[in-house]
Amino acid sequence: MNPALKPLILIVEDEADLVTLLRYNLEKEGFRTVVAGDGEEALLLATERVPNLILLDWMLPLMSGLEVCRQLRRGAKTRDIPIIMVTARGEEADRVRGLNSGADDYITKPFSPTELTARMRAVLRRAAPGTSDELLQFGDVVMDLAGHRVRRQGRDVHLGPTEFRLLRHFMQHPGRVFSREQLLDIVWGHDVYVEPRTVDVHIRRLRKALNGDTEADVIRTVRSAGYALDSRVD
Ligand code: CA
Repeated sequence: MNPALKPLILIVEDEADLVTLLRYNLEKEGFRTVVAGDGEEALLLATERVPNLILLDWMLPLMSGLEVCRQLRRGAKTRDIPIIMVTARGEEADRVRGLNSGADDYITKPFSPTELTARMRAVLRRAAPGTSDELLQFGDVVMDLAGHRVRRQGRDVHLGPTEFRLLRHFMQHPGRVFSREQLLDIVWGHDVYVEPRTVDVHIRRLRKALNGDTEADVIRTVRSAGYALDSRVD
């Protein structure tokens, strides 16, 4: 690929170890990176380089990520750049504040490189509609929406219509946890009465089809909360 065509990612992070790790993983995945260690530098670089996406740490010296986000949204050259907030805080109120300040998505530390790049691709896809709308990817799982096909490590995965809709929803929101009730609303629709336990049945079918005998489970069960597409092991 022509290097100039690779998406440019501005990493705003003050922890050197994490910067090294992020740069390594993102460059391996075909992104170009530029790094800012604090908010002032982030605003300067964002205006100068106009990256395709900004990974913005919440906890920064001098100026918080939240404030950086607000200022980016006010800048004429920066207001349309997609932003993913990176936060160590998991509380719902903080997530809402982050999204209200203008971030397109958030990711909570610690996160896996697979989850991060899947989120980034989803945000980039939404920012540039029509470019690769029809193809969703999470790790080695590829979903072709137009062709109604799913492949994992090159093999065809055969899914029923409900499992297909479930997986599509997860792949559009990688890493996010959805309750059974939310999944019922989204996948089955508001008007249909289905027992929440039905969701478990379809998740089981989805896992069976997707994971084969040897592949890692990409569906995470979050106790008393629901399910997420996630490769994190915990
Ligand atoms: Ca930090």
